[in-house]
Amino acid sequence: MPGPGKAVAELPEGAADSRNAHVTVDGGGGVVPPGRLSILRDADGSLTLNDLLAAERRPGGAGFVPLSGPFSRGYTRDVYWLRLEVARTPDADREWWLVAWPPFVDDVRLYTPDASGRYIEQRGGDHVPVPERSLAVRETVFPLTLGVEPRTFYLRVASTSTLTLSLELCTPQGFAERSVFTNTRQGVFTGLLLTSVIVSLLSALWLRRRFFIVATLYLCAYGALHFVLNGYDQLILYPGQPWLADHVVGVLGTLTAGLLIHFVLAYLEPGRAYRGLTLILSALAWLCLFWAVLSAAGLYALIAPWFQFTALLILVLLIALMLMMLPRARRRATLMLVMFLPSLLAALAQVMRNLGVLPTNFWTTGLWEWTTLFQIPFAAVVVLLRVREIEQEHQLVRAREQAQRGLINMIAHELRTPLAVIDAAIANLEARTLKDDPGLRPRYRRIQTALTRLNTLVDNALAQDRLQGGEVDIVRQPVAPSDLAAQVRELLDIDVGRHPLKVRLPQDDTPVRVDSHWLCLAVLNLLDNAIKYSPDGGPIALNFDRDAAALIIGVEDHGIGIPPQARERLFERLYRADNARALPGVGGLGIGLYLVREIVRRHGGEVRVESAPGTGSRFTLRIPVTGH
Ligand code: ADP
Repeated sequence: MPGPGKAVAELPEGAADSRNAHVTVDGGGGVVPPGRLSILRDADGSLTLNDLLAAERRPGGAGFVPLSGPFSRGYTRDVYWLRLEVARTPDADREWWLVAWPPFVDDVRLYTPDASGRYIEQRGGDHVPVPERSLAVRETVFPLTLGVEPRTFYLRVASTSTLTLSLELCTPQGFAERSVFTNTRQGVFTGLLLTSVIVSLLSALWLRRRFFIVATLYLCAYGALHFVLNGYDQLILYPGQPWLADHVVGVLGTLTAGLLIHFVLAYLEPGRAYRGLTLILSALAWLCLFWAVLSAAGLYALIAPWFQFTALLILVLLIALMLMMLPRARRRATLMLVMFLPSLLAALAQVMRNLGVLPTNFWTTGLWEWTTLFQIPFAAVVVLLRVREIEQEHQLVRAREQAQRGLINMIAHELRTPLAVIDAAIANLEARTLKDDPGLRPRYRRIQTALTRLNTLVDNALAQDRLQGGEVDIVRQPVAPSDLAAQVRELLDIDVGRHPLKVRLPQDDTPVRVDSHWLCLAVLNLLDNAIKYSPDGGPIALNFDRDAAALIIGVEDHGIGIPPQARERLFERLYRADNARALPGVGGLGIGLYLVREIVRRHGGEVRVESAPGTGSRFTLRIPVTGH
């Protein structure tokens, strides 16, 4: 925001008329004779000031031409010299600041004549004009002492990126007022950026979803790029290593482009619908990240021209993707469009400027600062909306689980009484008829086995309901492994006839502190499965082992085994593998292993499965016995 007493010389702002070729002063300083602004190209950057001054003394001068007409260089490594002839009115202040903008022009030097006519070199960034600022901003400002007689100053400008330069002459008062505005805007931006990064970082830590991690990285890179382009990197980049600016801008620019693609892809999830486009964008994202690495190694100058085209392509593809996703994911695609369209258009304007299609002016250079101010908090809104979506998904899953639990619980309760009646009636019948017809024994045995299975199912259903409802406390009491094995054996009320059960006990039978009721239930479920899923018979091993920290219980069979693709889901509630479903006459609810894992987890332990389809399975429970 210009303060009073401002002099403006703009290079190359739409300089079709001669106003831009002169330094004019208006406001507090009163009217001064117009200064002159002229320009000289130093293609290989080899000219020194002394060469220039010597050439100026020769007839025809050094070749400065008045600056007029549009000036657009895009990416250039040429050096430009500017000659300013400035004076003040007798009643105006003597002390002024010459402000060069934008601050990321790599190297700006001002040569000021002293009283004896010698030129003193000052470098942009050497001066911090408002020292009480909390952040040392890299402002390219120079103090100028103006006389009533015009004095000639030389400015040398070198840039390895685009060349756009605005020159302003401000009184100290005017500069301070201008700074208040820029600082307030920067303060608002910093606050918004930090809030947005914290919001998405917390979401990433809390929900552990890829989207939030990508969002956090994107916001950090984008924010850092903004800081660097606004000159806040002075402390690390300047003075002394201006070449670093090029590296950092290159690294952050390419990194931000790569992360932008990942951010949009992670949010819109276009994978299945637009596989080809997704693949192309992913490839471009990785290319940008690769370029970020190369830029860090100092190769940005080689990459820069390619990056211009790539960035243009990325922007066009991203806008196309958002539009294509509108019918499929209307809310998300609309949000992305609203969030990115201003920035994308601003970036597009910049890329077109760098390619020379649009003029290099302040509109194309400065627009993106404002769009950043809009985009950063919007990203936080997108992150929060995603958190809400996930919460709603969880609520839905919880409601579904609740309904399932209610149904299973009701059926299990209703089955209990008739099962008890059948059990008693069979025992009665067996007692009466077995004496007269001992040949019925195997049939009774089969009925008993089926009944036990049904009872196990009902017990499991009720147990999982109690576990899920959080009604269960693990009560640890000392029990010797041999007692645990005996309890299991006793409760294993099933005909194991074709499945010889081999129990191995540890040498050290000192008691361990576990909840024997729940642990027995877990082992019984494993044994029940081992029998169920070994239709051709085969031995079953129940091994108890110990090490210094844990009781290890293994159940091993020679049955159908578990297909590799089923392993991940094995412990999910109600999951059953395909080969188990295909077994005739073998039923199940898919609750047993869920119970096993819950019981072991509540003991602070873990379950391991090893299995080869067609060969058999081994389940190992590791129950820590100390420290709990
Ligand atoms: P259920 O046995 O009632 O189906 P579980 O939760 O006990 O439910 O087991 C889940 C699934 O794990 C089974 O359906 C089966 O596919 C597989 N499974 C468990 N134990 C074994 C085993 N010993 N051998 C082969 N598959 C097994």
